[in-house]
Amino acid sequence: MIKLEEYIPIVGQSVIDDLRLIATRLKGKTIQHINSTSVGGGVAEILSRMVPLLQELGVGARWDLIKGGEQFFEVTKKFHNALHGYPGEITKRDFEIFLETSQQNINEVDTCGNIVFIHDPQPIALVKRRQGNKWLWRCHVDVSDPNEKVWNFLMEYIVRYDAAVFSAPSFSRRLPIRQFLISPSIDPLSDKNKELSQETIDRVLLKYQIPKDKPIVTQISRFDRLKDPLGVIEAYREVKKYINCRLVLAGGGASDDPEGTMVFTQAMEMAKKDKDIHVLLLPQNDIEINALQRASTVIIQKSIREGFGLTVSEALWKAKPVVASNVGGIPLQVKHKYSGLLCHSIQGASFAIKQLLNSPAYAKKLGENGKEHIRNNFLITRHLRDYMLLFLSLYHGEDVVYL
Ligand code: UDP
Repeated sequence: MIKLEEYIPIVGQSVIDDLRLIATRLKGKTIQHINSTSVGGGVAEILSRMVPLLQELGVGARWDLIKGGEQFFEVTKKFHNALHGYPGEITKRDFEIFLETSQQNINEVDTCGNIVFIHDPQPIALVKRRQGNKWLWRCHVDVSDPNEKVWNFLMEYIVRYDAAVFSAPSFSRRLPIRQFLISPSIDPLSDKNKELSQETIDRVLLKYQIPKDKPIVTQISRFDRLKDPLGVIEAYREVKKYINCRLVLAGGGASDDPEGTMVFTQAMEMAKKDKDIHVLLLPQNDIEINALQRASTVIIQKSIREGFGLTVSEALWKAKPVVASNVGGIPLQVKHKYSGLLCHSIQGASFAIKQLLNSPAYAKKLGENGKEHIRNNFLITRHLRDYMLLFLSLYHGEDVVYL
């Protein structure tokens, strides 16, 4: 159990004092988070730390899940891709499946929190249960250019909320309800991000049979087309013509993501002739991901679309040089040539990886800058503060709230 005091050496005493002060104003309230998976993906990652920390601050917090079958999650994955502007046909039957499972959850899920905090589209229809309490919709997706059919469908529900929360300014939409911009965060003390001994790192490398004989380039992600693992392999192949290195592509699945197996198989197939490519299907194990990130020379996140991209913050917090696509919330984290390198294509990614592998001093400087950038902007203490101020604002009538 991590205590709040333990964050003081990282963020300073005054930050923790502020959190305690704000929390006193929320005494007696219960914040109820609801999403669709307890493991895998950024939302589960954040809630697994946000909920216990709110509780430690004396704010009631709980975390509930909706239920859904295979068909439902296939539909919500289609919604997810469509909201990211990715082409794909959404049929009348898809909407029906969504509505059927939503109705079951509306019948079964208890939504008794003073503030019900709904994450992403999967549980969005629960707002039909609204009865006198406050409701927030947290959109973790980049909806700057969504499929209009899906967006308009979701709007039927969004308008029933008190407010919507987006991760980045470019994602905000014209809405008849209040909206807030709050970026996600990482927990520097969680198993995913805490310091590890060299022995632990080496043990994980040994387990996955990754020798330390050459530089390691790594992407940690769910096996999802939008994370572009095949594009990462192509970029690596381009680099490999000039620099001898290894590629690690590692990730597990999420219970609400049915596409993982297919994408993983494609990556395995593409990588099978090269012993220096390690395509790893990981069990959910934060220490192992932490170790793989720390063992890497360069971290890549070559997403085609991205909500925020927590893996980028995780890498930067470990002072790793990062090459990442200029999409979604990534440019908030990677300031080009200051806290990493942004890329726009496979060629751009391979060029940037080569540059970092050829210039260790430059790579080190970018990593160090990156760590400070994360300390100042994307740690969970800032996120807790923003959320608690948001909760308080729901009990006040102002139209504009500056966080
Ligand atoms: N992650 C994980 N196991 C995996 C793959 C990813 O724990 O096998 C974590 C990763 O470390 C990060 C989160 O899941 O904390 C992914 O968040 P991100 O915002 O990068 O992408 P999302 O999956 O939400 O699209």
